[in-house]
Amino acid sequence: MAEREHEHVRVAVIGSGFGGLGAAVRLRRQGITDFVVLERADSVGGTWRDNSYPGCACDVPSHLYSFSFAPNPEWPRNFSGQPHIRAYLEKVTDTFGLRPHIRFNAEVRSARWNTDELYWEIETAQGALTADMVVSATGPLSDPQIPDVPGLDGFQGKVFHSARWDHDYDLRGKRVAMIGTGASAIQIVPAIQPTVDKLTVFQRTPPWVMPRADRKITRAEHWLHTKVPATRALRRQLLWSIRELQVSAFTKRPKELGLVQALAKAHMHRAVKDPALRARLTPDYTIGCKRILLSNSYYPALAQPNVDVVASGLKEVRGNTLVATDGTETEVDAIIFGTGFHVTDMPIAERVTGAHGTTLAEEWKDGMEALRGSSAAGFPNFLTIIGPNTGLGNSSMILIIEAQLNYMIDYLRQLDVLGGRIALDARPSAVHAWSAAIQQRMERTVWKTGGCDSWYLDANGRNTTVWPGTTAEFRKVTRQVDLAEYEVLRTQPGKVTEDAGTTVEAVA
Ligand code: NAP
Repeated sequence: MAEREHEHVRVAVIGSGFGGLGAAVRLRRQGITDFVVLERADSVGGTWRDNSYPGCACDVPSHLYSFSFAPNPEWPRNFSGQPHIRAYLEKVTDTFGLRPHIRFNAEVRSARWNTDELYWEIETAQGALTADMVVSATGPLSDPQIPDVPGLDGFQGKVFHSARWDHDYDLRGKRVAMIGTGASAIQIVPAIQPTVDKLTVFQRTPPWVMPRADRKITRAEHWLHTKVPATRALRRQLLWSIRELQVSAFTKRPKELGLVQALAKAHMHRAVKDPALRARLTPDYTIGCKRILLSNSYYPALAQPNVDVVASGLKEVRGNTLVATDGTETEVDAIIFGTGFHVTDMPIAERVTGAHGTTLAEEWKDGMEALRGSSAAGFPNFLTIIGPNTGLGNSSMILIIEAQLNYMIDYLRQLDVLGGRIALDARPSAVHAWSAAIQQRMERTVWKTGGCDSWYLDANGRNTTVWPGTTAEFRKVTRQVDLAEYEVLRTQPGKVTEDAGTTVEAVA
């Protein structure tokens, strides 16, 4: 084969959050060093780098919300804060020697499948390269969403999103509007309430909030987890098992969540004495339909005299006055949008063009679909980490990421076994069958039956984000690539053959 004029790697990983760094570690452990990690920012960490808002912490216990291959006996709390999680990811980067692979400030502008050469042509802010395989680990929580509110452009005060916190802006003595009451907002509200003059929370839909069993990890525990690693593993195992046992209530028997709902109500009653405020804060849908939020300080903060809850969405901005859907008018100095992310319309999908000349966004315009959460039809050798229907409502996404990385490694192994210049393209029939089976399981879940609208659902009301099973099941179904679910593409001098039938049979 003629020598290439451009840089070529075996694998290009996009993003250096948990998914991208995890992919890099697994590749290295497999002895694969011919890869790059393309990162748009100037440091690693993904969503844990971008979300630096006051109070930012993970609501999954740290001993479970970490890589199985990189335990951290030093977690300071049950639910560690963003600075510690970010530091953990920096440490993983150094411990596993990942820095030489990472290209910072290398935002991927486009990735296009070359059907003749069977590789991806990638344009980045740092130049072009090609890759046999692309592993897209941009994550669903990377691109902030600010609603298109009429009049926002004319607002004279300060505006920012929770994931782009402006630390130079002093909130002291300011009249602040918090838009949204999701997982981010409920951490921000108690953190800024004591500082601001007046805080108005625009709550379109009230969340269910449960207590958070947070505490410091004691020195004795640190010692034990360092000296006797089995105790660390046992802790992780326990945290995992409890969450696995919860799954059937979400996916098959939402009625079992009644007790949890009663606990959440009692939690609110303890902190909020004003019945009118309680009425505004009480959801009208089954707990679990939207993500269950954990906080001990959210309700107490809402009960403070400098906080108002407007039980309505933000409709319009007139000068410096915010107008809610229910007509309430509030004048503020700053607006903080805790309005979430582009989850079902990930911007990276617009930049990836597959074998048929269409973008992933075009292919997914009626709903995201990917085989085993990873492979979209028509996008050969392209895997998405935290792809469609891989999200969890109650457990650690790191478990899902690691399962998908098992799949990635097996995918590469299969390419090696098949040999030559080769690619695997998910068969449309296999992708649809996978997706249909998931949608069928969705019918009984609390996300579908609980009576709420959430970011789990796309514009067509389909749940294309959450995995309707246990993490153990997900791990099982992603352990190996089933070649029967793929077409095998090979280059021949001057043309490409799609020789799935015979090759697949021969290999299988
Ligand atoms: P989110 O869950 O999508 O919440 C967005 C909020 O904005 C919702 O309350 C939504 O109301 C509201 N909203 C949207 N448009 C609005 C409008 N025009 N007026 C008023 N309210 C409006 O976003 P997020 O809180 O950033 O969280 C996103 C995800 O990040 C979470 O679900 C979670 O997976 C993750 N996260 C995790 C942690 C953690 O501890 N692990 C912490 C933060 C975030 P509706 O409910 O009516 O749509």
